[in-house]
Amino acid sequence: MSIVNAKEIMVEAAKNGYAIGAFNITDLLQFEAVIDAAVETKSPVIVQTSVKPSQFLGTNMMVAIFRTLAQSAPVPVCLHLDHCTDIAYCKKCADAGYTNIMIDASKHPFEENIRQTKEVADYCHSVGDISVEGELGTVGGVEDQVKVAEDEAQLANPKQSVEFVERTGVDIFAPAIGTAHGVYKTKNPKVDFERLATIHKMLNGDGIKIPLVVHGGTGLPDDYIVKLREAGGAKFNVSTELKHTLIDAKWEYINAHREEYDPGKLDVFVRDATRKAVIGWMEKLGSVGKA
Ligand SMILES: [Zn+2]
Repeated sequence: MSIVNAKEIMVEAAKNGYAIGAFNITDLLQFEAVIDAAVETKSPVIVQTSVKPSQFLGTNMMVAIFRTLAQSAPVPVCLHLDHCTDIAYCKKCADAGYTNIMIDASKHPFEENIRQTKEVADYCHSVGDISVEGELGTVGGVEDQVKVAEDEAQLANPKQSVEFVERTGVDIFAPAIGTAHGVYKTKNPKVDFERLATIHKMLNGDGIKIPLVVHGGTGLPDDYIVKLREAGGAKFNVSTELKHTLIDAKWEYINAHREEYDPGKLDVFVRDATRKAVIGWMEKLGSVGKA
């Protein structure tokens, strides 16, 4: 039995100087590949879905797959709902068995963000052992239904971050620090490491209480990942890279085997490509052998 919420594995990670990979999946194949990678590397892992894939497969189906895979995996696995802007859907996923919920009310003014985030946190804590992620400031780029122009992205204010965490009761926190969803348009994206370190010190200076989340993992240079880990990043979200891996691997295989009609072989190839991509992240995040 290795079903966990995000907070418990992130606290361990933050205390011991590594970070947890949180991988967005859209189908069963990717879900299995992420678990394959976690088992092979003995890494704790967070599997996450944005709202659309969760609705497409259905929350009950998603949770059934999660429980089946997680219960037989000898590593801790969390199922996380990513960037949900709909309070009712957050609650639905909590009821269904997701173990971490992100309410993304970051586009709203500060007070309204607090109100919506607190409502979800209160609900999830009343339902069971579910941790909740909130976001302050906005992450540039597109993630599912959430779209923010990069020049409109606003970084999280450290003092407000502390107030936000205290008043909402969130368990893990995603401050906007300049990372972006999608593919970075420059080789040196402008990321405010200092800001993350300051927020980490203010929230976790006396011991890890509220582990921090870094959004927009895809395409971050390796030295950025090292610095973000040092500054307190305990969960790195990786979405776009796995979407590219899925499509590119399917394209590559079909292109090379155009006369073959054996979906199983295609699936094996795609699952393996995804597993390798995820292992690459686990190595960069230092989670290998930590499960
Ligand atoms: Zn994100």
